[in-house]
Amino acid sequence: MKRSTWLTLALTFVPTVALAQPAQAERLRVGEVVAGPGEKASGFIAVPDGVDAGTRIPVTVVHGTKPGPALALIAGTHGYEYTAVLALQRLRARLDPSRLSGSVILVHMANPTTFYGRRIYYGADGKNLNRVYPGRADGTLSDRIAYAITTEVIERSTHLVDMHCGDGNESLRPYSYWQVTGDRALDEAGKEMALAFGLDHIVIDRERPADPARTVYTSNTAVRRGRPAITVESGGMGLTDEASVRAQEAGALSVMAHLGMVEAPSLRVERPLWIDRAQVLTSPATGIWSPVVDKMQSVATDTLIGRLTDPFGNLLKEVRAPFAGEVLYVVATPPVSEGEPLAFVGHVTEEEPR
Ligand SMILES: [Zn+2]
Repeated sequence: MKRSTWLTLALTFVPTVALAQPAQAERLRVGEVVAGPGEKASGFIAVPDGVDAGTRIPVTVVHGTKPGPALALIAGTHGYEYTAVLALQRLRARLDPSRLSGSVILVHMANPTTFYGRRIYYGADGKNLNRVYPGRADGTLSDRIAYAITTEVIERSTHLVDMHCGDGNESLRPYSYWQVTGDRALDEAGKEMALAFGLDHIVIDRERPADPARTVYTSNTAVRRGRPAITVESGGMGLTDEASVRAQEAGALSVMAHLGMVEAPSLRVERPLWIDRAQVLTSPATGIWSPVVDKMQSVATDTLIGRLTDPFGNLLKEVRAPFAGEVLYVVATPPVSEGEPLAFVGHVTEEEPR
């Protein structure tokens, strides 16, 4: 094209573009961290001492120059789940606020004391952080962390991805949870996020509590405050394998692309496997667990999942599949306490869910 034509086009188009994408004016504050437009800042959310010792949650705020969604990415809710912690380090290095529309809040490690203490499931207060939301300011440490994340992160976001993997004892295949609430717009937005994250097994979850004051789970706390949110699982057994870390990193970027925040390819799943029924098989007793299936294995109704014995080797229980499906995760180390998970089995439906 001739230079004069290009100039005319440029003069015609530039004001239009500027009008469509006004500059982002406000600063964004999360805990101690403040980022202005075009800035990336890291620091901590302080969880003060209370009935027990407090902690500091490491966060990064990447604040774009153009307006857009505020996406919260939360890693390290469980102390022995490492893949998302490493993926968020990579994302922090990659995200360029000058090319970002909206904001990303990276919670690098939601539960530092369980991470450094190498704890599975529970904090030192005996509580599972992902069972105490929305938390409370005057509770034990898990309650106070949940309260801090609810008020400082969830309430400042528009969308959320809670990033997990199998805990230190869980052999897990990658999958995500799509939560269905009955609010059509919210459910559709969540479904699109699950597809965008790129994991091809998606558990349809209709069971989460509706009361915003008793949301129990991180992602449900966002959903019950009107923010589309998903929970994702990639990795497990305390490993940091490249495939599992990369799936977390690529999935988060793909959700950003889906939300129009970055120019990046979307990994959207074209042929998802929808799991319409899923059951956590829990241990009937405290004992020693020996699984006989592995993650990603298909099982028929009554397929033996594993055997529970007492410390002497006497059989306590043979645990079998309640229905035909896929092994989403199975506990792969010996210790189990009564009521704890042994395996998670999901039934794949042929129908596209609504
Ligand atoms: Zn977890």
